[in-house]
Amino acid sequence: MDRERDFDIIVVGSGISGGWAVKEFTERGFKTLLIERGRMVKHIQDYPTAYTDTWELEHRGQKTREDLTRNKGISKHYAYSEATRHFYINDEDQEYIQEKPFDWVRGYQVGGKSLLWARQTQRWSDFEFDAPRKYEYAADWPIRYQDMAPWYAHVERFVGIAGTKDGIPNMPDSEVVGAFEMNQVEQAIANSIAQRYSDRKAIIGRCANLAGIKEEQIAQGRSRCMARSLCERGCPFGAYFSSNSSTLPYAEKTGNLTIMMDTIVESVLYDDKTKKAIGVQTIDLKTKNKKIFKSIVVFLNASTLNSNLILLNSKSDRFPNGLGNDNGLMGKYITFHNYRGRITADFPGYENSYYYGRRPTQVFIPAFKNIHRAEQTFKGSYLIAFAAYRDSWARGIATEGLGADFKDNLLEPGGWKISMMMQGEVLPSFNNHVRLSPDKVDKYGLPQLITSVDYSANDMMMMEDFFKEGTEMLTQAGAGNIRTLDQHEAFGRQPGLEVHEVGGVRMGNDPNTSLLNRYNQLHLCENVFVTDGACMTSIGNQNPSLTFMALTARAANHAMDLIQEKKL
Ligand SMILES: Cc1cc2nc3c(=O)[nH]c(=O)nc-3n(C[C@H](O)[C@H](O)[C@H](O)COP(=O)(O)OP(=O)(O)OC[C@H]3O[C@@H](n4cnc5c(N)ncnc54)[C@H](O)[C@@H]3O)c2cc1C
Repeated sequence: MDRERDFDIIVVGSGISGGWAVKEFTERGFKTLLIERGRMVKHIQDYPTAYTDTWELEHRGQKTREDLTRNKGISKHYAYSEATRHFYINDEDQEYIQEKPFDWVRGYQVGGKSLLWARQTQRWSDFEFDAPRKYEYAADWPIRYQDMAPWYAHVERFVGIAGTKDGIPNMPDSEVVGAFEMNQVEQAIANSIAQRYSDRKAIIGRCANLAGIKEEQIAQGRSRCMARSLCERGCPFGAYFSSNSSTLPYAEKTGNLTIMMDTIVESVLYDDKTKKAIGVQTIDLKTKNKKIFKSIVVFLNASTLNSNLILLNSKSDRFPNGLGNDNGLMGKYITFHNYRGRITADFPGYENSYYYGRRPTQVFIPAFKNIHRAEQTFKGSYLIAFAAYRDSWARGIATEGLGADFKDNLLEPGGWKISMMMQGEVLPSFNNHVRLSPDKVDKYGLPQLITSVDYSANDMMMMEDFFKEGTEMLTQAGAGNIRTLDQHEAFGRQPGLEVHEVGGVRMGNDPNTSLLNRYNQLHLCENVFVTDGACMTSIGNQNPSLTFMALTARAANHAMDLIQEKKL
């Protein structure tokens, strides 16, 4: 193994969080090596289906038989299609062992899952940071909203968030560029909720699509969202935030960024004399050659389960169970979002009303349970998202007529339908964990990850509460034919498919019960930072990635301050 060259910083992974790390480091002049296991995906030129119409795709966008056999696992994901499969891994690329069923959704390329994500972004509030302590279901977070507020604003100004200022204490307002609009039926439901409830409010979703545009995004060469709703193919207009359209090209312009693709970080190397990491051990995907890269600081942004894997695999005489893992808690308290519950309904009337485009967000009802008072039946909070739409598809199937009449009839939209979902906080549990297989390795010789993650009775109680509250709100607003669906019972939906897995290397003030301090540094190896979802002590009810970005920007600036003060 030969030593390649030195950098100030090594960042592992170029997805949502890694993109933010390199943007912050390079902007302040730090020479940064970004190591990415996937291939290069250049903004615009590497989005092969961005302009393709469905009828131009060989299988009209559907999953093929080969997808369903060769990629049985990953092709379960809702966004996996003929138009997007090149942004997902193949199952064989990284085998893992499901001790309990867990669908691990992965996208390995420059940009990671930032190309695929659904872009919903809400801030956490003090309710989420304080809830684990207050309701005694996890270790106390070492930070509170005031630590994060400036970093949320910092990230949002650059990313460009669509949304309105709603004044909701448990979902603080974001810095926004404009907003998408509710359609008339959604507005009617929102009005009905406003009239009947003092504890809840329906708002238009906040998302990283440019409903409007400001100087910061224009300077990045991005333009306004046209509501094509083809985002997960890559947006040639840069109208949604991805590492590829935003943070990475910005960082490259500084001249301080080196990107190394097709390279897996196998482990972080520890030096017992300095009590610090010296760098990382890598494997070249094509040649299988191993190399060491050295730096002052290592940032792990390989996505939640991969950062766990890398650290558990970073064994030394001092840390035989994984770097910084004296308390044995690494890999434990993996959590995710409960997406089991869904409600559908019809909404009579409003036949003369329609909407423009395919809006890239829904209407949200921020959490209203376990916020100001504790529920008797379950812990944790959930938010609700819903949309109202004209049912053109069902109408098409049922349309009568022949030839031109048939085609003309198809253009008439059907009645209004409502689709409503929950996003529920799954409580961190010691039993929900990942660990390394003692004997099975993947095709690169890395230990396979064992996932042992499941729902609990609390998740069922929360889902029942959602069914009750959602049905009540829709009934009061005038909806009919309301149906509830447990997607686990109906389709065998497993944890993982929501792609919000977090934890395993949690933050906390106490090194006996946590792995990372309040700035995301390993308690026992302070020049290693973990700022992807692995660092999360609990998951809250909000979509997680905005918080990963804000935590990353905050930790990166802290790391640079420490380096400049010669403390690292
Ligand atoms: C369809 C879809 C919809 C989603 N919708 C939302 C949403 O609306 N809101 C939200 O907040 N989140 C959403 N998510 C989740 C969101 O995409 C993730 O939370 C986010 O991408 C995580 O960022 P990350 O930086 O941790 O990881 P990623 O974006 O996955 O990036 C990790 C990178 O690390 C690389 N890597 C992995 N292992 C190694 C290694 N050993 N060495 C080197 N490189 C490595 C990978 O190749 C990858 O590029 C969605 C995800 C999907 C797929």
